Amino acid sequence: MNYDCIIIGGGIAGLTCGIKCTGEGLRCAIISSGMSALHFSSGSIDLLGSRSGQNVVKEPYAELGRFIEENPGHPYSKCGQDIIQKAFSFFQAEVRAQALVLFSNGDKNHFHVTPIGTLKPTFFSQKSVFNKKIRDAFYRKPKIAIINIEGFRDYYPKMAAVNLKKNRLFKGCEIITGSIVLPGEKLNPKNPHEFRSIDICRIFDSKPDLDKIASRISSIAGNADIVGIPAFLGLNNYNAILKSLREMTGYILYEIPTLPPSILGMRLDNALKARYAELGGVFIAGDRVIGGKILNGRVEYIYTENHPETRLYAPSYVLSTGSFFSGGMISDAEKIQEPVFGLCLEYAKGRQNWHRPAFFHPQSHPFLSFGVKTDEHLNPYGPSGERIGNLFCTGAVLSNYNPVQEGTGSGVAISTGFWAGTQIVQKETGQHTRNHD
Ligand SMILES: Cc1cc2nc3c(=O)[nH]c(=O)nc-3n(C[C@H](O)[C@H](O)[C@H](O)COP(=O)(O)OP(=O)(O)OC[C@H]3O[C@@H](n4cnc5c(N)ncnc54)[C@H](O)[C@@H]3O)c2cc1C
Repeated sequence: MNYDCIIIGGGIAGLTCGIKCTGEGLRCAIISSGMSALHFSSGSIDLLGSRSGQNVVKEPYAELGRFIEENPGHPYSKCGQDIIQKAFSFFQAEVRAQALVLFSNGDKNHFHVTPIGTLKPTFFSQKSVFNKKIRDAFYRKPKIAIINIEGFRDYYPKMAAVNLKKNRLFKGCEIITGSIVLPGEKLNPKNPHEFRSIDICRIFDSKPDLDKIASRISSIAGNADIVGIPAFLGLNNYNAILKSLREMTGYILYEIPTLPPSILGMRLDNALKARYAELGGVFIAGDRVIGGKILNGRVEYIYTENHPETRLYAPSYVLSTGSFFSGGMISDAEKIQEPVFGLCLEYAKGRQNWHRPAFFHPQSHPFLSFGVKTDEHLNPYGPSGERIGNLFCTGAVLSNYNPVQEGTGSGVAISTGFWAGTQIVQKETGQHTRNHD
């Protein structure tokens, strides 16, 4: 097996890098041990949601220059504004090639509705969650219906409605709620709270009687303008299902992100993996990279849990293993480690300094910004402090940013994945990229 590049971890960061590399003609393998954070995320892409965790950023690109200046160690500062903007356009185009349309509010952030009816600033949302029609309808103070399906246990329309009414954007909007029963006796669970989003999603993908579903929605929504329904309208046929339901009911129908498993996140995951495969990338699922040999500031080879005797060689490697959530970092009572190479980390010494006493503390928890230390090329430092020139680190494994407080989670993953991919392509093909030196 000869690869130009091996990527460890197949979340949004690893896949963005893989798509960039395979799209430019490199032979690329991604080895990924399990599900990524996408299965838990809202499926919207945050670029820069807030400054100091408090002020909502209206126009992220306009703020980025100052943000980069004020945060020189931040992964965005290592990429630079030009690469970040290119990465976002690249990402939007690549998932669109798989018919997944990401909508932005021009260069401005927009708000998406959370499962409990609060609003969160974000940059890209899937077209079923936010689009021009929904945005424009808000100027007319629309009547809104939030509709659930009986048996779906992870959504609470009444609570969402009460919370939405507290927000000034929804002042003057009438909000009604209700739930429908799926047509076809067999489709409905025996236990009234048995469904998770993925169960309902499978039913939608199996072509249920959409006419009946549409008429049940209409019987509850009445003269509403906008109908919100939890995001479970299919993993494969969602574009067609939404189009049919919109045509049959005449409503502006949109999807509301749910608690995990997140169908919106899974759609993104599917689109990225399909795009990567279409370009010729190899994805090895269900195996974990457990170590590698570092010699003279280079990774020589890596090996995995399932095949510890097989050495995998490539001129370039990418570490996209995520944060604590995905096993990209592990901790015990005293220390934190990067488990594959034992890379140098940036984190506060003393466990008492890893978190704040209040769960919803306005300054968030320090552990969220712990991670691998890198230089501006995203090259990390090995156990003895040597810079590793052919290993690039991307996404949530990186230090010096707080995805929750800043609203930069997927944005950092996409930008650093793209920046690492750009540099690898340059190395392997001699193409010119922005000079960082
Ligand atoms: C609950 C939750 C909700 C979020 N909501 C949002 C949101 O609404 N908007 C937003 O922009 N961001 C959101 N984020 C942040 C964003 O989703 C993450 O920052 C981003 O997905 C991180 O991507 P990643 O590729 O770096 O890592 P991950 O998605 O964590 O992927 C890492 C992958 O590496 C694999 N892996 C780990 N170790 C190894 C190994 N040794 N060998 C092989 N494979 C390995 C893991 O199995 C996993 O598949 C959310 C995050 C979480 C956790």
